[in-house]
Amino acid sequence: MSARADRLADRLPQAGIDVLLVTNLINVRYLTGYTGSNGIALVGSDLRTFITDFRYVVQAAEEVDPGFDRRRSAQHLLEGVDEALETGGLRLGFEADHMSVSEHARLRELLSRNELVATSGLVEDLRAVKQPEEVAAIRTAAALADEAFAELVGGGLTGHTEHDLALRLEYEMRRRGAERPSFDPIIAGGPHGALPHARPRDEKVRAGELVVIDWGAQLDGYCSDCTRTLATGDIDSDAVEVYELVLEAQLAALEEVEPEAVGRDVDSVARATITAGGHGEHFGHGLGHGVGLEVHEAPRLSQLSDAVLAPGNVVTVEPGIYIPGWFGVRIEDLVVVTADGCEILTSVPKELTVVD
Ligand code: ZN
Ligand code: ZN
Repeated sequence: MSARADRLADRLPQAGIDVLLVTNLINVRYLTGYTGSNGIALVGSDLRTFITDFRYVVQAAEEVDPGFDRRRSAQHLLEGVDEALETGGLRLGFEADHMSVSEHARLRELLSRNELVATSGLVEDLRAVKQPEEVAAIRTAAALADEAFAELVGGGLTGHTEHDLALRLEYEMRRRGAERPSFDPIIAGGPHGALPHARPRDEKVRAGELVVIDWGAQLDGYCSDCTRTLATGDIDSDAVEVYELVLEAQLAALEEVEPEAVGRDVDSVARATITAGGHGEHFGHGLGHGVGLEVHEAPRLSQLSDAVLAPGNVVTVEPGIYIPGWFGVRIEDLVVVTADGCEILTSVPKELTVVD
């Protein structure tokens, strides 16, 4: 854990700051191990300080890396920062992506002895490259989610409401030890599957339609993420063709996931396949995203991404085709970038599967 703070400290001069004030709780957890809901960290070349309030002192004593000096402050933790810094005159970085305008005003008031510098993505960039123990945690979460999915599908989909199926999937994940789902599961049958982020309805899944299921489990803080599209009986040949096209795009993109590959280029491979099949306009989202302590994090695989992949990145590869009023198909795998390509962490088969 303290190695993470050391790596962050090494990057601070390049970012033009002496100390980073870490207020995003996920970043605080990553650096210190703290899992409570009020805590901040200060990291500088010789500074490792964690601040929380009265309610979390015992928890912090158990969880926070001993390399951090632990302090207790008023409930509004920014009150304790000036005292923890001791000297003034520092270039103090703050996480601009995770601070409200009013918090920033408060910070200026409380830390007037220092120069405040807006920073972005310093800890997130570190988090994007997973350590082996992090990959192991994600692998375990993915395996658990896959088992829960098998249990769900084994019970049949047809005749059950999307809502009940989502509830069952969540239950099966929690029963296997998940802290929670990575996000609310998506179960979307027929035309509803054409909404990429559909919310489960109180409507029954019918025979002879495509059903998009997108789910993940969170375990020890780490998330998994996977999507499969299943058929409940015979579906028409147009839908089968679209399914095969998405699968072809997904397999082609997986081939491109390797060190040095650029996010936008990996996206382009899937997009070119789908466009050549006549459905470019029906693939309106990015190809994939990083997964870790958050289900959506760096690096991104999209048309806008100049992220360069490196071993240890964990990303999803999830092309989709969504035809409004008709159906949707998405196929998503979770993969870890290795020294010479990638390893798929999802074990659920991808051939078009017909279920009850
Ligand atoms: Zn997903
Ligand atoms: Zn995803």
